Amino acid sequence: MIDYHIHPNYSSDARGTIDEFCQSALKNGLKEICFTTHLDSDLTRDDAYVMVDDKKVDVQSNDWLVHYESSVRQADETYRKQGLRVKLGIEVDYYPGIRENLPDQFFDTDFDVILGSVHLFDHHAISVEKESHKVFQKYTLSQLGERYYGYLINCVDTELFDILAHIDLYRRYGEQYYGKEIFNIWKPHIEQLSDAMRTKKVAFEVNTSSWRKNLTDPMPTGSLIKSLIARGIDIITIGSDAHYPEMIGNGIQRVLTYLQEIGVETVSTYEKRTPQKIPIESLIQQQEK
Ligand SMILES: [Zn+2]
Ligand SMILES: [Zn+2]
Repeated sequence: MIDYHIHPNYSSDARGTIDEFCQSALKNGLKEICFTTHLDSDLTRDDAYVMVDDKKVDVQSNDWLVHYESSVRQADETYRKQGLRVKLGIEVDYYPGIRENLPDQFFDTDFDVILGSVHLFDHHAISVEKESHKVFQKYTLSQLGERYYGYLINCVDTELFDILAHIDLYRRYGEQYYGKEIFNIWKPHIEQLSDAMRTKKVAFEVNTSSWRKNLTDPMPTGSLIKSLIARGIDIITIGSDAHYPEMIGNGIQRVLTYLQEIGVETVSTYEKRTPQKIPIESLIQQQEK
């Protein structure tokens, strides 16, 4: 089993060291994990910092990234011998003008994969329930789709990212607010989004955290996954978005079956920002052994 979206305690909303996550991964039979700590650099927000050894560090300082990189590489060395590969990733929060706010070290770090995520609308996070309502009150459903997919296309165009994470994240709290119509708001934007992704060779993630929020589908929903694949975007990573060690691998088995049922045959791992496809069948068999 693999899990490509994991938050260790460099962010204040996560608990557990890199070592604790690796221990939990081993215990739960995972073969490969990728840490994707948050890089939230919108300086107008009060969460634009990183935790290192329980101390707040400026997100734009380079030291924390050096610390993070060496801790993950060290873990790979340690746990590889026990059958667990540990990859170096990051989840970057996209907003217009982001490039100037990234730490210099971002461009010098040898990441295996870089996730680009749209959480923010006008500096409010739609991934946080209270903040999401500020956004929903302001936008009709079609405006929400227009803004969200507009941001995602801009995110692809920055050429900073390998993967778009959870590309219908607005469903997390929006499903309750707007109703089931929210499942369709990607449709007017799919051509433009998939053209951009194909051109810039950007892939997408299927994220299982929606199941922990009692939603029916992973993010994105099956019809959006199928639509992207039909347009030639067929590199997919899978991730639990674990924020605690015991959450690692959460929903991964279920999502493999879900993907297989809608006709997806492979998911991908990454090394030095190059994808490698793995048959879903072999991952399921591995688990059954
Ligand atoms: Zn995210
Ligand atoms: Zn995340």
